Amino acid sequence: MIPRKKLIAGNWKMNKTPADGVALVKEIVAAAGKNNDVDMVVCPPFVAIESVGKALEGSNVKLGAQNMHPEASGAFTGEVSAPMLRAVFATHVILGHSERRAYFAETDAFINKKVLAALKNQLKPILCVGETLAEREAGSTLKVVQTQLEGGLEGVSKEQAATVVIAYEPVWAIGTGKVATTDQAQEVHAFIRGLLVKLFGDAIAAKVRILYGGSMKPSNAPELLAQKDIDGGLIGGAALEARSFLELINAAA
Ligand code: PEP
Repeated sequence: MIPRKKLIAGNWKMNKTPADGVALVKEIVAAAGKNNDVDMVVCPPFVAIESVGKALEGSNVKLGAQNMHPEASGAFTGEVSAPMLRAVFATHVILGHSERRAYFAETDAFINKKVLAALKNQLKPILCVGETLAEREAGSTLKVVQTQLEGGLEGVSKEQAATVVIAYEPVWAIGTGKVATTDQAQEVHAFIRGLLVKLFGDAIAAKVRILYGGSMKPSNAPELLAQKDIDGGLIGGAALEARSFLELINAAA
């Protein structure tokens, strides 16, 4: 089996103006732009996406969006579509982030429409799944993850599935400084891998990258990234500074 290349993706959330974003990626590109050992993605807010994309040109750092609407165009005030993201050379899109689920009431059915639209437009979805603290304490972590994963991937073909990235993000670990233990994370990652085997077969499941997200930082990344089914990280806070993002890239190499 060919080992899965690790992927480090930065989710900037609602941070960075275009000028701040360009300054940040200039530092990242200068230090790691030619890195071929790790796949690297940055996901700026929409207003910064085009200028950040231009600053990434010629480097190995890819451009991602933090969200999109499933329709290609139309009367959806405030929304951005897959063809629009393609037009600014985005290659990835985060879908179903827990903040979208919690604050914008996104359901698995709606997220699934976005996943299918992204794939139809050759964008690689980074589909986020993960349980809240109450769900973990109630013992329903695996059930929640299964529902979100199966709901998000409904109708995805085997061929398309190979390009999907899954991010396991326990909601209680996002932006809280509380990181899942390596055992907690690996247990859920292995469970997700098993679900992917059932949905798409061994060969495809072996190719899909499953990222961990939730207070990943340079100090805890090496241990997490050493786990069999942890293929990289979706990084919030630590992606906002070049130094920590670069350290995470190095930890994944
Ligand atoms: C995220 O928002 O996807 C995330 C993992 O954030 P943080 O790294 O800040 O916990």
